Amino acid sequence: MTLPSLTPPTFDDVAAAAHRLHGMAHRTPVLRSTSADEMLGAQLFFKCENLQRTGAFKFRGAFNALAQFTDEQRERGVLAFSAGNHAQAIALSARLLDMPALIVMPEDAPASKMAATREYGAQVVTYNRYTEDREAISRRLALERGMTLVPPFDHPHVIAGQGTSALEFFEDVPDLDYLFVCVGGGGLLAGSLLAAEARAPQCRVVGVEPAAGNDGQQSVRAGHVVRIPTPHTIADGAQTQALGDLTFPIIQRLADDMVTATDEALVEALRFFAERMKIVVEPTGALAFAGARHGTVDVRGARVGIMISGGNVDLSRYARFLAD
Ligand SMILES: *Cc1c(COP(=O)(O)O)cnc(C)c1O
Repeated sequence: MTLPSLTPPTFDDVAAAAHRLHGMAHRTPVLRSTSADEMLGAQLFFKCENLQRTGAFKFRGAFNALAQFTDEQRERGVLAFSAGNHAQAIALSARLLDMPALIVMPEDAPASKMAATREYGAQVVTYNRYTEDREAISRRLALERGMTLVPPFDHPHVIAGQGTSALEFFEDVPDLDYLFVCVGGGGLLAGSLLAAEARAPQCRVVGVEPAAGNDGQQSVRAGHVVRIPTPHTIADGAQTQALGDLTFPIIQRLADDMVTATDEALVEALRFFAERMKIVVEPTGALAFAGARHGTVDVRGARVGIMISGGNVDLSRYARFLAD
């Protein structure tokens, strides 16, 4: 069983998601940094989804989707495939809504993400991300167990939930000139774009991908979804092969630009966050800042929103990034 609705989400869905999430998700803080302002010659605002429940914005989309299950779906439970943060988000949402959860994860997913998923009470099944097709495995398991599959980005309820972070951002920081958002499958970016179109039409929204896998940039240029091999990058939350059928048209229509950031720039950003801002950010979570700092968009003199998407990183891996 998959979630039935494939109607493209609208801003009304983002607003409805914000109501559903009220009191369930954290309204994450927006941080400032004088050093960052000086470095970029701009006014920077950092929306800290690394401080969201389960450590990433994914809780927003997951809870919004599960909260709309029918009684029968609730009873059979939810199935998800994920490199980590979607898994934790589904696992916690399922526990809060009292339903079973089964998560299909790559066997090389960060140990902390796998452990956290199990701790939230979900069952975990692993696969090899370079040789096996996670979608096929997930579909088979969903069919066998009658569970409802909630994809990590390409579903209207997920996209709408992810958009609530940008919605809060625009409420808390009016008159942003730019918003930089990291891109994997494009759920966070698509939701942010819907929020921007309705609430901050003056704000130019820029997607940031790992340099190792700029499928989104290629797709927007080509006018259709371009699929690439799984990119090798430290940004494990953005190791996607393609944008989704629902996220792509929204990104194509509303994104102002797509830029990339190298792994080297991500490490530099992680160090900056640790040293200057005292916050733990995972490599994927640093994409937006690295893109604003090293990308092709001239942000000097502007009010710039940076979406920090998550902070889940194995401590030993994190220590290596800081020490290198
Ligand atoms: C999932 C994830 C992303 C990518 O989000 P999409 O909606 O797939 O584009 C970025 N950062 C973090 C921390 C994530 O967990």
